[in-house]
Amino acid sequence: MRDSRLDPLFAAATALPGVGPKVAKALARLLPDAPETGPRVIDILTHAPSGAVDRRARPTISELVAGQVATVEVQVERHQPPRSTRAPYRVVVADATGAMTLVFFRANAGYIEKLLPFGETRWVSGAPELFDGSVQMVHPAHVLDAAGLAKLPAVEPTYPLVEGLTHGLVSKLAGAALERVPELPEWQDPAFLAARDFPGFREALETLHLPRRPQDVAQDGPALTRLAYDELLANQLALRLVRAQMRRGAGRATRGDGRLSRKIESALPFALTGAQGRALDAIRADLGAEQRMLRLLQGDVGSGKTVVALLAAATVVEAGRQAALMAPTEILARQHLATLEPLASAAGMRVALLTGREKGRERAELLMRLENGEIDLLVGTHALFQDDVAFRDLALAVVDEQHKFGVRQRLALAQKGVAVDVLVMTATPIPRTLVLTAFGDMDHSALDEKPPGRTPIDTRLVSLDRLDETVGAIGRAVEKGARVYWVCPLVEQSETLDVAAAEDRFGALAEVFPGRVGLVHGKMKGADKDAAVARFVSGETPILVATTVIEVGVNVPEATVMVIEHAERFGLAQLHQLRGRVGRGAGSSTCLLLWKGPLGETAKARLETLRDTEDGFVIAEKDLELRGEGELLGARQSGAAVFRLARMEIHGELARVAHDDAGLILSRDPYLSGDRGQALRLLLHLFERDAAVRLLRAG
Ligand code: ADP
Ligand code: MG
Repeated sequence: MRDSRLDPLFAAATALPGVGPKVAKALARLLPDAPETGPRVIDILTHAPSGAVDRRARPTISELVAGQVATVEVQVERHQPPRSTRAPYRVVVADATGAMTLVFFRANAGYIEKLLPFGETRWVSGAPELFDGSVQMVHPAHVLDAAGLAKLPAVEPTYPLVEGLTHGLVSKLAGAALERVPELPEWQDPAFLAARDFPGFREALETLHLPRRPQDVAQDGPALTRLAYDELLANQLALRLVRAQMRRGAGRATRGDGRLSRKIESALPFALTGAQGRALDAIRADLGAEQRMLRLLQGDVGSGKTVVALLAAATVVEAGRQAALMAPTEILARQHLATLEPLASAAGMRVALLTGREKGRERAELLMRLENGEIDLLVGTHALFQDDVAFRDLALAVVDEQHKFGVRQRLALAQKGVAVDVLVMTATPIPRTLVLTAFGDMDHSALDEKPPGRTPIDTRLVSLDRLDETVGAIGRAVEKGARVYWVCPLVEQSETLDVAAAEDRFGALAEVFPGRVGLVHGKMKGADKDAAVARFVSGETPILVATTVIEVGVNVPEATVMVIEHAERFGLAQLHQLRGRVGRGAGSSTCLLLWKGPLGETAKARLETLRDTEDGFVIAEKDLELRGEGELLGARQSGAAVFRLARMEIHGELARVAHDDAGLILSRDPYLSGDRGQALRLLLHLFERDAAVRLLRAG
């Protein structure tokens, strides 16, 4: 149960004065993180200003500077009502130093007359402009008499807005919301607050919404940083509590004797890299411990995660148990099977495949063998956690390409056995700070060393104006035996349109290279996709036009040329993934990023980053800088943490502090039962980590 002191904050925003149905609707659009039942007081409070207007400057008219907000004392000299309906209403005002024109479009004449009575003194506040050699102010933000001036805030916060809301209205609501913030005990360490010059929780909210200086609302200022830290700490505490809970749900020690792993290793045409060896040591230690494993294996495309997964699986099979490997797409699942099967069967491990395509008798038989323990490693897609899939003794679940699956699915697979150890693999390099915030509940191994013998990919930016030249170049490459991927643009996130674009390009290329071009996209039937990829692998159609279905995991070492059409439309991480489809064999590879101008600043930065480096971790950091963390994780879809106030690109350093802080707090007070612990429970509720608080009670 939530502490009743917090109730006013979780009351509906409609309880605030001035929030009718129309405003409530606009607020719901403004605050998409609010629950479906509508925004609450807390949602308004955590909607931080994006800036502030300083109205303290009080120049004379002659001292006004174009574009600089000022509040000027003036006499009303003359009204010039519009002569046509489209012309503006003008009012000439003056002081001892000169005159200025106030301009109002589509104004109600009666309203303007009342606002600016002839001959009276008024204070107008806004941004002046120079127009035709004279000073004017279009729609001043404020026109005030002496009483109004006394109430004018010196600094006004400005907010991210949606249609139907104004800065003034949001600011008023925030003011009303502030009055509902109760006195709460401090949950942060006082020494930490003092060292960082952080205000208290309530004071921080007041500073943000009632700023006295423009810097009060700065993203890296003490007020917002304090609140961001609150949020990061709540997140870290919650992750740790969840993890502690998982750990308490007793694990099982699974120890292999190395007999299968050794056979597999000696069947490999290469030696493991140091990074692969270290990751395996960590995984085997986890498997052998009485606690459950929850480990993230992070490694750039081509860093060799698959072999690590296979050897981990071999360890549990040596102990007489089973393993599962779940891939996000059918293509990928089949590919895993193709890679793993020869190695596994050389060691006597029994591998099988289960996707949505296995049906009827075949599927029933497979499930029976699985339940009897006649399958050691089951590779598949989502189909693995269908209800009727039962293992004899599942001990390890490997989930490939984590970000395509939600946390819920990860758990569903883990529930197919007793205390299943979970290994999550991702090829999207994630910056350190994000590893902590999004995957802080996991241990972490990184394959930060590429297998030897890879030649760098020659990446070039080519204008789409030079399409004909590009087609000529791939023609020459194909004559020399190259395999070429041609990836088509993402059109407005619409799969149908993507497919249309790919079909068009396929048609055009097929005219130039008859019988030599294949096509693969997400709307094709599984068998057709396989056939298209197979013709590409065999060299029958050495050019493969594709949508982003090939983004994840497709492994054709013979492919050496990657063309990405309209590269400016793809995200950095996605481009990196796509490029990773080449450069997988011994031959040197080329990636052509076909762009169409004009390029925006970020699009240009993205393409240049990609041209200049192949290091996934560098690319990930750059991506974070360019996009911010929410998008980077595709947070909404993946169910990973979304922060209201914390911005990794700004408060990233604090993520680590919060991580360590949470560890220390829980090591001293694992159930948050002391005084500070009780205050921290309030914090968990405030940032809606309620599930974590419930775990505390259960434990
Ligand atoms: P990813 O991490 O992208 O899943 P893969 O596991 O598909 O990478 O490995 C990419 C390629 O590198 C495969 O062809 C694999 O056989 C090869 N490979 C893996 N480990 C090594 C190694 N230690 N030395 C040389 N090649 C390796
Ligand atoms: Mg892989």
